[in-house]
Amino acid sequence: MQASNPVISSEKKTLLIVEDSKMNREILKELLSDDFNILLAHNGLVGLDLMEEHKKSISIVLLDIFMPECTGFDFLERKQTMRGCQTIPVIVMTASNTVEDEIRCLELGASDFISKPYNTEVMKNRIRSIINLRETSSMLNRIEKDRLTGLYSKEVFLHKVSNILQTTQDSYDLICSDIVNFRRMSERYGENKSDLFLRNLAQSLMKGIPDILLGGRISTDIFCFLLRHQDGDWAEATLKNVLGKDHPASFIIKYGLVPNVDHALPPKTLTNHATCAIKNIKGRFDATVGIYDEEFHKEQQRIAYIEEGMLEGLKNREFKVYYQPKHSATEDVIVAAEALVRWQHPKLGFIGPNIFIPLFERNGFITQLDLYVWEEVCREIRHCIEVGFSIVPISVNLSRLDFDIPNLAEKIIALVDKYEIDHSFFHVEVTESMCTDNVEQIAETCKKLHDAGFLIELDDFGSGFTALSYLSQLNVDILKLDVSLMQNAKETRNYSLVRYAILLAESMKMKTVAEGVEVEEQAAALRVLGCDYIQGYYYSKPLPQEEFEPYLLEYESSKGEDYFNRIF
Ligand code: C2E
Ligand code: CA
Ligand code: CA
Repeated sequence: MQASNPVISSEKKTLLIVEDSKMNREILKELLSDDFNILLAHNGLVGLDLMEEHKKSISIVLLDIFMPECTGFDFLERKQTMRGCQTIPVIVMTASNTVEDEIRCLELGASDFISKPYNTEVMKNRIRSIINLRETSSMLNRIEKDRLTGLYSKEVFLHKVSNILQTTQDSYDLICSDIVNFRRMSERYGENKSDLFLRNLAQSLMKGIPDILLGGRISTDIFCFLLRHQDGDWAEATLKNVLGKDHPASFIIKYGLVPNVDHALPPKTLTNHATCAIKNIKGRFDATVGIYDEEFHKEQQRIAYIEEGMLEGLKNREFKVYYQPKHSATEDVIVAAEALVRWQHPKLGFIGPNIFIPLFERNGFITQLDLYVWEEVCREIRHCIEVGFSIVPISVNLSRLDFDIPNLAEKIIALVDKYEIDHSFFHVEVTESMCTDNVEQIAETCKKLHDAGFLIELDDFGSGFTALSYLSQLNVDILKLDVSLMQNAKETRNYSLVRYAILLAESMKMKTVAEGVEVEEQAAALRVLGCDYIQGYYYSKPLPQEEFEPYLLEYESSKGEDYFNRIF
């Protein structure tokens, strides 16, 4: 059949005729070949193949409906999924079709009908006007609308949103949709199916979002919509079900909602806010819609301030090291202290490590900060030595990321040696939760430090699961009982977990320190159970250097000169 198709000449528009009746094909060819290049297909399947092959040159398709194997309906349906073919107009040739058939054709994207027997002039005019219409609208659409989804292109969408926000005072919401696993799924299902999914999603959202004004395609799988403001918690339930039951559940869609958008903000910022709200719920299976409200906005601003200011902050010495005393459980003496960092932030004020450390652990800045803290502690010890205070050993916290610093142990040793301080003045606090991966590397660094005279404390013991083998692998000298064990014991008055931890430490020749001790009752119980050292508000909060030094002095003068020689 294809052999009988002519070589396509460029002046004439090309027309594909899909018709199973040989006689009808011949008649149409006869009538139209003066004005058009004609491609002939004797059934729907051949028609689809020809359309795929010549999609760039075919201007229109004339389609019969009732054909064996692949009917005109099948043809229209398949055509919607074929990249580059979706916009080729189709005129359906009718003879005995019912109204229902015609409606179905229109729903499947047909542009018009011509009825048999054919009136040549009417037919030619209709074909020409549809081709013209397509060419002009495709020129406009190429700029205005995304071909696949029918949504506005990104620039047009943003422009229209900007117009609406600048010219009206009404309240609007903005929603972005994002298929979080799109790349993986499109590799798996192929381009055509993924395109079909995107198209369905765009259409379902245009239909399903209430009071919608316009929709745009922001990137491959991110769509954005502007709607009139809706009150209440409508979004989660509505958007979860917007696709109905028969969409492939393997595409995971998340939404970001910016309610009551600020008219003064550029639309690009608003879409960024929406995608930011999506990011916030990406890992959460239970959440479909992330909301960018006032609270979230403040949180984002805080994160931005923190990240923007961290380098300057380090340079300007805004990070302050506090020292929390550790006391002997049996004698009223301070035996050591833990260095805990805080940030005197120029905009946010005084902030604790629980706010900024998780962020720095995500963006990697923690490694710089921790080396800074090491140096600050070195300075403080050196200062105490110079002015003649009896300083106690200070423990410094290490993050999991610090162990990726090449030659970490050597770097720490070199730093401490630069300040000419005995290594026994330093403890290293490593936390049990960091041992989930890369234990060998952590163990190697701990061993080097341990062998060089630093004591290793295993922090937060009892807060999670510690493989007991880590205790010897990491050369742990001191087991630090997690604050939750103390709080639990305080509430339940049950110290059995604490007792087992102390027994374990004793059997492995390790010392124990309990942190988070707040009241006398806890301290008394720990003494009875044989815990060696106590840290917590019961004795003191973490103190800034100006208060920590007098604290040391007070103990020194009340206890006589040589007591520091007995510690640790
Ligand atoms: P952590 O190492 O477990 O530190 C103990 C935390 O418990 C400290 O909180 C301390 O202020 C608090 N605490 C002390 N005594 C009590 C008490 O009696 N009751 C209660 N409820 N809490 C008490 P902080 O200073 O906010 O530090 C939080 C966490 O931040 C630390 O937990 C540590 O994981 C991290 N961190 C602090 N400074 C540094 C640092 O320089 N480097 C690294 N990598 N992490 C640090
Ligand atoms: Ca610690
Ligand atoms: Ca701890």
